[in-house]
Order: sequence, then structure tokens, then C-alpha cells
Amino acid sequence: MEGIEKFKRIVGSIHIHTSFSGGNLTPEEVVALARDKGIKVLAITDYSDRKWEYHKISINRASVLKFGMKRYLEKMTSVANENPDMVILCGLETSPFYYWEGNFLKPVCRDYNKHIVVLGLQELYEYENLPLLANKNSGYDQYSGSQAIEPYQKLIDYVNLRGGLTFWAHPEMEDNFRYLNARLYTPPYVGDLKRSFDYTGFSVFPRGSQIAPKPGGYWDEVLGDYCKGKRAKPVWCIGESDYRKEGNDIANPPTVFVDSVGDKEDALAAFRSGRIYALDSPQKGLFLNYFGVKDSKTNEFMSMGGTLLSGTNSVTIKVDIESEHPLKKVVLVRDGVITKESNEMRFEFVDNLSSPQEKVFYRLIAEDIRGSKLFSNPVFVGR
Ligand SMILES: [Zn+2]
Repeated sequence: MEGIEKFKRIVGSIHIHTSFSGGNLTPEEVVALARDKGIKVLAITDYSDRKWEYHKISINRASVLKFGMKRYLEKMTSVANENPDMVILCGLETSPFYYWEGNFLKPVCRDYNKHIVVLGLQELYEYENLPLLANKNSGYDQYSGSQAIEPYQKLIDYVNLRGGLTFWAHPEMEDNFRYLNARLYTPPYVGDLKRSFDYTGFSVFPRGSQIAPKPGGYWDEVLGDYCKGKRAKPVWCIGESDYRKEGNDIANPPTVFVDSVGDKEDALAAFRSGRIYALDSPQKGLFLNYFGVKDSKTNEFMSMGGTLLSGTNSVTIKVDIESEHPLKKVVLVRDGVITKESNEMRFEFVDNLSSPQEKVFYRLIAEDIRGSKLFSNPVFVGR
């Protein structure tokens, strides 16, 4: 692969709970464990709140709001300063909204587990004023039924205005549990990937790799809308470990950064620009060395996350995967449609674009014979 730079392999674990919100390790212990596992970038995202009120009855479990936002941020700052070899991002897993259905005998708390991970806010007041139902900043209450996407969009817009990042957490997960005579129920909310705008990304793992990222699925619809100018921003996938206790694997699944990550700003920049890919297990030796496109006329390359501005209607897609195990399937997706299937680790594929005026995207899904999967982020070809 002459003239192009091989991707780096900086392993990150995104979405981690500590003892601040029900995890059984302190932030210091989490950092030590991650270092042992070869992780360089950590996004610690304790729950903003876990408070649910039904008239006079309330549950209030361990969370950052309960503990104190200021103390949480101070703690994370000191942990980051004590571990300069690691890149430690501090964020929150937020629950912007929930609402009650049913009656007093059988109340149902809906969407309490619909979560958005927030990263990259700087100031204490920005965290304290997040539009959440639990801190009474959202403008919504839990007794007026569904508010559709609005409370979530409000949070996304708030974070964007302040330069932060938002990721839909575990959008394919269903959650259901009983508390006294109440039921707390959250159906999968993967459709919100289409209903909301301007968020940074979504997690493909855990329990979230079946619907959204399949060829022609919700993610492809969203990327297609971006290409058609119906959305201002593309949407990236991340691996999400949702780590909370010993016995869970903090390195599974990882988000892999493909450029050097020296500090927090580098990590945030990689999230903003899609310079990451998601795996479902790091131990199985599946990596992406390169994924990008080449302009057949100028020989200019553009790799994952970027946009090749091209005047030609023929591009070459370059794929370089490294895997300890033979590959079962490599799928190249163009605009939601499988354009090429292979089981080779390295290949080039010349694609002729029928309409050179349109913006298109390519992305890659690789699966080895053990069933480990890798999802690239897209590369765009635009005019
Ligand atoms: Zn969650």
C-alpha cells in the first residue's frame, strides 16, 4: 500500500460506570484495570441520574446528581491528572426523560432506560444545566405522556451548542423490570436514530449490532439522508463497553482510534470526524489497517471519516484487514446496498458511479469465522 498511511490501533473503552453510579470499581480501579488490558482511551460516563418519581413514591439510586456534579468532575479531573499515560474523558450517561402510563394500581414507567452518552462538555455549569427531567431543567414532566423525540433532541442541541458530543447508547436494547407494583419498561429505540438530528453517533455494541448497522438499516438511511443534504452531519458508530462491574470485560467491545491520541482533544476530534471503528471483541485479533477510496483520475486517497472530492465517476475502494482467523465475510456497503462481498483480507475494488453529481458513502463490515465483527465508519465521495 504505497502512499497511504496504515491505521493505528489505539484501543478505547467508551461508556464506563464507576462506583459513582452503581459500578463496583472506583475510578482509580477502573483506570488501573483498563491499563492492564492495553486500553489507552477511557470515557467514564456515570449515570446523570437514576431517579424516578411517581407522585409521592420515588426511587433514587446512586448517580452523579445524587452524589454531586462538582465532586464528580473534581474527582475525574484528579484521576486524569494522576494518570498522564492514559487519555481519560469524563462524561455522563444521561436519561433526559421518562413518563408514566397505566393507572395507580399498575403504573408503567416508560423509557427510563433510553440513554444518551454525553462527552466533551467543559464547565460545571454546562453539566448542571443539562436539560434533564431529573434536575427539572428539561421543561417536561413525567405525567403528560410521551413527548416523542423532543426531550432528547433538546439535550442533543444543548450539548452541540456547547461543543460537546452525543451518542445514542444501546439503541437496540429492551429493558423491563418490576419495582413494587410498578413496571419500568423501555422498548428498543433504534428508530430514534432517524427521528433525531445532529447527534454524533450511536453504539453498535452491546446488543445493538443487529438492526441499525445492517446493510440498508437505519444507519444507512441516516447516512443516505446526509448525502442527499437532508442532514447537516453524518453519524458515526462506536463500540460501547457499558462497563459496570468486575466480571464484565472492560475491553469488550472496544472503539479503535486510527490516529495517534495524545490527549483528550485528540480523542474528541476522532469522535467528531469518524476516525474510529467498532469491534465486538479485541481479543480475537481483528483489525482494520486501511479503509478508504482513491480517485481513479488523480490517485488521491481519502480514508474513513473523510470526503473525497472527486470529479470522476470511477473510484477504487481499498480494504486492508488483519485477522488472526480466516474471514467469513467482508461486506462493502455503498449507499445501503451490498456492492461487494469477499472473504479476502486485502482487496481493491473499482466502482463506477452512475451519477457523478451525487454524494455517496462506502462502509465496511468484516466478520471472522469465529463470528467476531468489525464495523468501519463511512468514507464519502462527494462532488
Ligand atoms: Zn444505559
